[in-house]
Amino acid sequence: MRGTVVTMDLRRQIIADGAVLIENDLIAAVAPWSELRAEHPAVPARGSNTDLIVPGYINGHQHLTGDRLIQSSIPDNLLPGEAVFNWVIPIHAEHRPDDDELSATLTLAESLRNGITSTFEAGTVAHPDRVAAAANKLGARLCLGTWGWDVEEGPYAYPVDEVLDRQRQMLNLNLGPLITAWVALVGHDLMSDELVSDAAALARARGVGMTFHMSPTNSDPDSYVARTGKRPMAHLHDLDVLGPTVAISHAVHIDETEVALLVETGTSVISCPWAYLRLGQGMSREFRHLALWQQNGEIALGCDSENAGDMVDAIRTAALFAGLAKDTSVDATIFGAHEALELATIRGAEAMGVSEHLGSIEPGKQADLVVHDRTLLEWIPNSPDPVLQLIWGSDGRSVREVYVAGTRVVEGAQVLGVDLEELAGEAAIASTELLLRSGIEPPSRWPQS
Ligand SMILES: [Zn+2]
Repeated sequence: MRGTVVTMDLRRQIIADGAVLIENDLIAAVAPWSELRAEHPAVPARGSNTDLIVPGYINGHQHLTGDRLIQSSIPDNLLPGEAVFNWVIPIHAEHRPDDDELSATLTLAESLRNGITSTFEAGTVAHPDRVAAAANKLGARLCLGTWGWDVEEGPYAYPVDEVLDRQRQMLNLNLGPLITAWVALVGHDLMSDELVSDAAALARARGVGMTFHMSPTNSDPDSYVARTGKRPMAHLHDLDVLGPTVAISHAVHIDETEVALLVETGTSVISCPWAYLRLGQGMSREFRHLALWQQNGEIALGCDSENAGDMVDAIRTAALFAGLAKDTSVDATIFGAHEALELATIRGAEAMGVSEHLGSIEPGKQADLVVHDRTLLEWIPNSPDPVLQLIWGSDGRSVREVYVAGTRVVEGAQVLGVDLEELAGEAAIASTELLLRSGIEPPSRWPQS
């Protein structure tokens, strides 16, 4: 495979007119094109020196069900909590197994088309086997969770023992070669101390990761302080929950002590900046993720749900994170395109505990690769610094080919393994039926005739 290779290796080498040799599911060699061609004259080659080859992008937080079938339908002018409790939860409650598979197919297909090869599901899946079927059909890499909360009412809410049983069952499923599972709780103040402690112990005992939502707004800190006298991270630390295999989504409204606790314990934070901006949650005022990054904290990026970020695009997310870092610090020198690409690839892989096999283009790693087409208009003329151009001048729409574990899953900017027309027909029907069953009528702000 020929192209300029952004390796994301330790030295962050970029090989202009380079090549990547794939053998089965692995990267066998990375070198200048002329060298590799001479060594392997018989191996069929694709691409050209106008291509840009980067590691597959990592999306650390993505809801694959619920929102997708009402894509961009939840109004963007709701009061805090309304989007979740009046829209997302009722829609989830009406999801049928077929809806789970269809919804995940749409999201994962868009993810692959935009170069996201690894998706970490946020723990709101009711029918994991059906979501796994979608991922297997598309050839997407996926870490899957299922509902975990012990509140009094809500879809798939149960007492602690039953929640843990469901999590154990999830971990025991054999879902496919590219699919793993983790312990996932809804989080916020929607989990008892007993549940979060036991779930953390379960994840450690099984050697898997754990995730939950916390502090996208001030309501979690307010609730924890009122209940325990401590802020969420301090309380979770006392419960022995924090640690290097835990990835907390959001953690936007955290104070300096909480930043220090996250760094000290090696706990990862998954930052989903589009969600905070679309929902008006104050990230531009409380941008602690930059402090976390400056202190060598573990950070991955997430695209979140379709009615919070709407587009599943790692480059768009990375660019926004970089822009917020520059603007909130009023300092353009601290964090830029290169650091943003690190979060979408190797540092994201480190934060999610998968950097041994993913996140960079190096021999021995999984061949999860993305090819951007630099003959497209937005790339003309080609910048001498491809990373600068990738983050600020482009997005997922310039992805032409994608490989997961050495298998081509996107070709000619089309996702292989789905029929778009068929999918659109099914989605239109499922969306209408889902809205009818849940009794939700999406309004249109402006009159439509
Ligand atoms: Zn979420």
